[in-house]
Amino acid sequence: MTMQPIGPEAVLGVLGGGQLGAMFTSAALRLGYRVAVWDPDPDAPAHRLASRSFPDSFADSTVYRAFSQLVSAVTFEWENVPVVLCEQLAQACPVRPSGAVLRVIQDRIEQKQFLQRHGFPVPPFSVVSDPAQLGDAAKAFGYAAICKTATAGYDGKGQWSIRQPEEVAPVESALRPMVPGGARWIVESLVEFERELSVLVVRGEDGEQRVYPVVENRHESGILRMTAVPAAVSAEVRVHAGHLACRAVEALGGVGVFCVELFHLRGDRLLINEIAPRPHNSGHYTLDACTVSQFEQQVRALCGMPLGEVRLMSPAAMVNLIGHDVGRVTSSNGCSDLLAIPGAKLHLYGKRMVRPGRKMGHMTFLAETADEASDRAGQFLKSLAS
Ligand code: AMP
Repeated sequence: MTMQPIGPEAVLGVLGGGQLGAMFTSAALRLGYRVAVWDPDPDAPAHRLASRSFPDSFADSTVYRAFSQLVSAVTFEWENVPVVLCEQLAQACPVRPSGAVLRVIQDRIEQKQFLQRHGFPVPPFSVVSDPAQLGDAAKAFGYAAICKTATAGYDGKGQWSIRQPEEVAPVESALRPMVPGGARWIVESLVEFERELSVLVVRGEDGEQRVYPVVENRHESGILRMTAVPAAVSAEVRVHAGHLACRAVEALGGVGVFCVELFHLRGDRLLINEIAPRPHNSGHYTLDACTVSQFEQQVRALCGMPLGEVRLMSPAAMVNLIGHDVGRVTSSNGCSDLLAIPGAKLHLYGKRMVRPGRKMGHMTFLAETADEASDRAGQFLKSLAS
């Protein structure tokens, strides 16, 4: 049954109030909606933009009642919000994507098994429920393996690479304290990729899908550092990547914005690394370079409104401002030097505490050619390192 679109002035709920929640909130406010933000951290950036702010535990039943009575539809800004809460809220209003999608995505083992079952190419993997199994698992992949916690890891946290037999014992010791909490791990073959790609797919409740251009990502220490769009890959790879991403999102049956992360191997093979059931850091360029941003698409899909155009209006390269990078940008000299660069767009998330590895903002460089955009981003990265 297709639902009636939810019109402006309704209150939309978002679980999680980090930068992704804040960018969703800005997009919704611009379209005339009001937004209720629920995030236990009172300093979470989206609270400052919210029409109603709930800086409370997700387990608070009084807050649950107030929030569920207020909102016409709910989404989330990251996949580690409680599934049970999403399922409970779904009895009161649409929750998009659904708790069922979250259940598959939240657990890396579930997610990889789901993809494998549906015939999608993924890196070879095995499941480890006892750290003593780690050595055999790594050996089976010729000691080029990566071990990841099944749940709750992000931005390279909860991940250990193992490149030789001597590296097994220290990782095993790191895993042991997690055993009483019931932790499980996925051990994957550490694949030698040529590049990392990602594809944003927007899916409406009627199953219509829109696909943004394929982008290329560079990570440092497991954290996204830079995204360049369009990716410098052949037309065949572009089409194949878009196809895989659409089919994977269709298999999940979700409604909303999804990011499918891919490894591009030699010989033009593509493997799916993982899927995020929400707007993604590698899609931040859409704010400045596309007709409709990934956050506006999240609002549109949530409200049953027509999906927006996904047209790239300009080549772009995005650089994350991580941890103390932000100091270089917020000094008055740093900021004016940066804003003097043609096509440079600064986004600061307003996080008070600077911590190593914390995403504090990003810069997008727009230019007439992809090379020019990447060059400007590359120079900026160099200036951060100097
Ligand atoms: P993930 O949290 O799974 O997205 O991993 C973060 C980053 O670690 C990826 O973007 C890759 O750079 C790297 N990585 C993860 N899994 C693998 C793998 N199986 N082989 C090679 N690199 C990987």
